Amino acid sequence: MNFTHDILIIGAGLAGLRAAVECVGQADVAVVSKVLPTRSHSGAAQGGITASLGNEEDDRWEWHLFDTVKGSDFFGDQDAIEIMVRDAPRVIYELEHMGVPFSRTSEGKIAQRNFGGHTRNFGEKPVKRACHAADRTGRVVLDTLHDQCLRHQIKFYPENYLLSLVFDGKRCAGAVTYDLPTGELYLFQAKAILLATGGCGRIYKTTSNGFASTGDGMSLAFRSGIPLEDMEFVQFHPTGLYPLGILVSEAARGEGGVLRNRLGERFMERYAPTVKELAARDVVSRAILTEVREGRGIGGMDYVHLDLTHLGEEKIEKRLWEIASFVRIYLGIDPVYDPIPVQPTCHYIMGGIPTDVDGRVLTDEKGSIAPGLYAAGECACVSIHGANRLGCNSLLDLLVFGRRSGLAMKRDILQVETPTLSNESLKRVDSKIRGLLNHQGREKCDSIRKGMQAAMMEYGSVFRDDEGLKKGIEEIRALKERYKDIGVSDQKEAFNYELMEAVELGHQLDLSEVILLSGLHRRESRGAHWREDFPQRADRYYLKHTFVFQTRKGLEVRYKPVKITRFQPEARIY
Ligand SMILES: Cc1cc2nc3c(=O)[nH]c(=O)nc-3n(C[C@H](O)[C@H](O)[C@H](O)COP(=O)(O)OP(=O)(O)OC[C@H]3O[C@@H](n4cnc5c(N)ncnc54)[C@H](O)[C@@H]3O)c2cc1C
Repeated sequence: MNFTHDILIIGAGLAGLRAAVECVGQADVAVVSKVLPTRSHSGAAQGGITASLGNEEDDRWEWHLFDTVKGSDFFGDQDAIEIMVRDAPRVIYELEHMGVPFSRTSEGKIAQRNFGGHTRNFGEKPVKRACHAADRTGRVVLDTLHDQCLRHQIKFYPENYLLSLVFDGKRCAGAVTYDLPTGELYLFQAKAILLATGGCGRIYKTTSNGFASTGDGMSLAFRSGIPLEDMEFVQFHPTGLYPLGILVSEAARGEGGVLRNRLGERFMERYAPTVKELAARDVVSRAILTEVREGRGIGGMDYVHLDLTHLGEEKIEKRLWEIASFVRIYLGIDPVYDPIPVQPTCHYIMGGIPTDVDGRVLTDEKGSIAPGLYAAGECACVSIHGANRLGCNSLLDLLVFGRRSGLAMKRDILQVETPTLSNESLKRVDSKIRGLLNHQGREKCDSIRKGMQAAMMEYGSVFRDDEGLKKGIEEIRALKERYKDIGVSDQKEAFNYELMEAVELGHQLDLSEVILLSGLHRRESRGAHWREDFPQRADRYYLKHTFVFQTRKGLEVRYKPVKITRFQPEARIY
């Protein structure tokens, strides 16, 4: 089937929906999503959204800017970060006016809480900056934006998988998708296409990410000749519920939760004496794993305790209700009385599809634009978060740059004719899908996926080194070979999840290789990328963004300087 819209948005998380809402009334907009829109991972965000409203204590956007730059290990582009933090208060009031039920102070203002790395007066002490709706912030913002889309009759294509981007010459002019309920392929044509397909945490064995976070959009852009930027920077959140990886939001530490080792020591006092549990996520993740390595994990195992018991039942029930209920449901213990077992879990990818500050996709390190193609949200790299993202800055990024992409698309399409694509690309994808279905392969998705997730955990997670990264690349390449012989046993047309899992696995393998290769070439430690063989940050050589290209000769790595406007890199002191 063929469909034509002015603007096609792939992804119904906060980035995609915010862009859609921006274009209402001025363009015919459609949203494609492989999961039901309100099931997008954005709905899982618990902690909040940052903005220097100063509702609870004095705050300024300049401090927010400094914290984000410092949190990024001086690697985020400062011009882009400034745009984001200056826009933040407007974003919060806009959401409030759309109907988001934020938690309130006793005076009725929007409540704000502490989150790791957010400080007053350029690092003096923690500041309350995260606006939240209890610990269901992502849920209520996603539902509110979805309501706005329905209200404006935006067309949704749910359970519809992007399989390929279609180019008309250099211009991105359409997409081929797979409709899960019927097994039919759709050809979309549009004047502008936004990728808002989220992250790729599912590459790792332990992750806080939902099942849909398989990095499809990044991989499909990459296969179309777009480079991927800064993919070595993968954030591990220190507190995943052991052993499932489900997130225990930083809100738990923001509200006063403390980490303890086997000896009952509050060990963060040793690693980050000033901010302790509220140090940046990479610092806390490494601290936990160092405790484990040195034999101070609980019962000699690979986890530590997050202790909330001193907070009292009332605070836990009121402020951390969802976290408490997860702990009760998944572990059968009560955080009011028992400490919670936690371990680092893959949480967020700082890298992604390179874009300018208006969501336009870049095709090289010099800043050339891919006409018609836009990206926003976790799949994109603006770059705001640099080498490490601060808590609650992602939702802000989605809303600021989702909106800016919407603004840019509705402006840009005024100069563009509706494309008229042939069915050629549809036929090509159709024959690929048929090939996958008809191939009597001996390999199974499950076994290759397990191999990939184990290799990424072992060689590409919190601690890395030259030998491990090389080994990891070798293993991923071997898995890619095995993937060529993959067999799909389910042959039915409707709801063929097995088929789509096979497609997703292909994306994940591609991205795994890019992550490891980018990490191998960065011979320094910065933010979430920690090289045991190069423990120093090396600004002289590596104050530059990694761009990995797919070429006929294999993967090629190039670089682009980091944009520094106000804050020169300084040493890390905690
Ligand atoms: C458990 C958890 C808690 C978090 N808490 C916070 C927090 O408190 N504050 C904060 O700032 N950040 C938080 N984050 C990070 C933040 O939630 C994510 O970075 C963000 O939600 C990503 O949003 P997105 O719009 O880019 O994509 P997502 O919300 O991940 O949505 C991706 C969309 O793309 C669609 N899609 C993907 N592939 C395809 C395809 N092939 N075809 C069609 N559609 C496709 C999916 O269906 C989905 O609609 C959290 C993350 C997690 C995992």
